Amino acid sequence: MSAPPLLRLVGVNKTFERGEMPVTALDGIDLEIAQGEFIAIVGQSGSGKSTLMNVLGCLDRPSAGSYQVRGVDVGQLDPDELAALRRDTFGFVFQRYNLLPALTAVENVELPAIYAGRSLNERAARARSLLVRLGLGDRFDHRPTQLSGGQQQRVSIARALMNGAEVVLADEPTGALDSKSGLEVLELLQQLHRQGHTIVLITHDMQIAERAHRVVELFDGRVVADRRLVGAAAARSPALGSEIQAFAPGVLADVREAARMAYRSLCTNWFRSLLTLLGVVIGVAAVVTMMAIGNGSKAAVMERIDSLGTNLLLVFPGAPGQRPSGDTLATLTPDDARSVAALPGVQTVSPERRDRKTLRFGNLDYQTTVTGAWPGYMKIQNWQIAAGEFFNEEDVKRAAAVVVLGNTVKENLFGRADPVGKFVLIGNVPFEVIGVLAEKGANAFGSDMDDTAIVPLETGFVRLFGHKFVSMINVKLAGTDPGGGVEAALTALLTGRHRLVDFQVRSTSELAAMASETQDTFTYMLAAVAAISLLVGGIGVMNIMLVNVTERTREIGVRMATGARAANILLQFNTEALVICGVGGLVGVALGLGSAALIHVFGTPVSYTLVPVVLAFSCAFITGLLFGYLPARKAAHLDPVIALASE
Ligand code: ADP
Ligand code: MG
Repeated sequence: MSAPPLLRLVGVNKTFERGEMPVTALDGIDLEIAQGEFIAIVGQSGSGKSTLMNVLGCLDRPSAGSYQVRGVDVGQLDPDELAALRRDTFGFVFQRYNLLPALTAVENVELPAIYAGRSLNERAARARSLLVRLGLGDRFDHRPTQLSGGQQQRVSIARALMNGAEVVLADEPTGALDSKSGLEVLELLQQLHRQGHTIVLITHDMQIAERAHRVVELFDGRVVADRRLVGAAAARSPALGSEIQAFAPGVLADVREAARMAYRSLCTNWFRSLLTLLGVVIGVAAVVTMMAIGNGSKAAVMERIDSLGTNLLLVFPGAPGQRPSGDTLATLTPDDARSVAALPGVQTVSPERRDRKTLRFGNLDYQTTVTGAWPGYMKIQNWQIAAGEFFNEEDVKRAAAVVVLGNTVKENLFGRADPVGKFVLIGNVPFEVIGVLAEKGANAFGSDMDDTAIVPLETGFVRLFGHKFVSMINVKLAGTDPGGGVEAALTALLTGRHRLVDFQVRSTSELAAMASETQDTFTYMLAAVAAISLLVGGIGVMNIMLVNVTERTREIGVRMATGARAANILLQFNTEALVICGVGGLVGVALGLGSAALIHVFGTPVSYTLVPVVLAFSCAFITGLLFGYLPARKAAHLDPVIALASE
């Protein structure tokens, strides 16, 4: 039994379903091509030559009939096996060269070897030697646009030969060339034939066809003539380059090459890449900065709450669940405070009564919160005295008209002058300023603690507030209250006094929990806003990748024709998105930390934690994977013929 012919078509049909009318491009083709033949396929335009070449080169599948390569039915092969066949057995030469414009001559020639998994050095050396052989020794680093048509076609022939190319398929290779360059290309093909390659030359020109040893004429998709011009004694020596061993590239090599190609293509469109990158950078930086600010603000608030101490109980008027209103609820009295002070475990007690009042000094008016309190208030609140002194028990007892000013009030009424000993009018009553409190800043909920004036509680009742009810009672415990025993005793005491629960007790640890919750909400809101900008950045990446795929469809076709598998294409386009997002993520993290540091310089508290950094970076990375995947998949699933035909 003789060996099967190299290529064999049996009853091959190809029908294109275009709109209503199906077009039959190939109509029952039976053809055998032996190893080492130089065959021309000739026919007028539209006779089906290119369709035939696409079928022969495994770029397209027949609609009916079978096509065998070395006796193997191509219809049974999966896409990766087809890619391997294109990569190792066939070399394509197109009428329009189909070189990749961003790559140099050497890089264009190397392309098929990349998909065959050859090392960088090996393939560069072979690409150079092929170019030298084809007379382009001085054009290695030229780009296609810097080469003449004839030179470009020679580069494309070198590319076809890169992996050995037992069969060279040339579709109108001279069609776009002047007659001299055309002749040179034909001579090259003849030379390749002498070196053992099987050549399939497609042309509409009978004169060119007659250079071949066998001419097959097509008409309306049918073979109408098949002549041998030279005796069947075709060259039988093995094809040059068939010594090249094909081997499947490893995953690692694939990834490395994809990264290289992604880098190249990002550089080619550097401005566009930069803008896309910017979107990701801003998104990531926003997340990092916002989280740093949010966490910083929380840390600052918690610190202030901690400075209050953990052993503080606050008693508010009003039944549990009752919302505090603007007016003080009339349920707590100074007598309540006095009885609480007698409880064991209680160190200091001060009720307080607050009201908005206008203070006047000279012709200056300033409205502030006037607080009536006991001397212990200063200790409970951790106030320090900046000038003068705080009032004492005696002042409370005699309802002395004295006042201690918070720093903000002092600044507003006296500026830099010393107010101690001066008189201010509160609601037309003159009060002597006996002290100024040290500056304290904002409290846990953001209001200015220095914006107050403190008077003895009794004085307040007599001269300012009227009814003898208090706004709250501050209770400082002697130690901590782990079991809540003091709190329970206090609750029982007041309940007994009032005969109903018309008050609420809070501990500072509860306050801390509340403040922490508020701050977390604030941080999450900042983070959400920032996350949206990250999402917008991601959509930008997807947009650019989709444009990329659409723009580079022909490139994808060329890569597939030279042996790229769907996985290679998928990897390449995904890597581009990943590189953008990865680099964008890193720059964004750096920028985010940088701007947080800058903001810190201007006085806003910030706190750096690892979580938002890791979170933002992985978000960017995942964005790249996700938003890069759809366009990449679109690219990988393109049909090689359709991709090649795109403009
Ligand atoms: P040739 O290369 O000999 O000029 P082709 O093989 O390109 O001819 O085309 C053969 C016939 O098939 C033509 O009538 C052409 O219009 C049709 N054809 C080729 N490709 C397609 C396609 N992708 N979709 C629809 N019709 C096609
Ligand atoms: Mg054609």
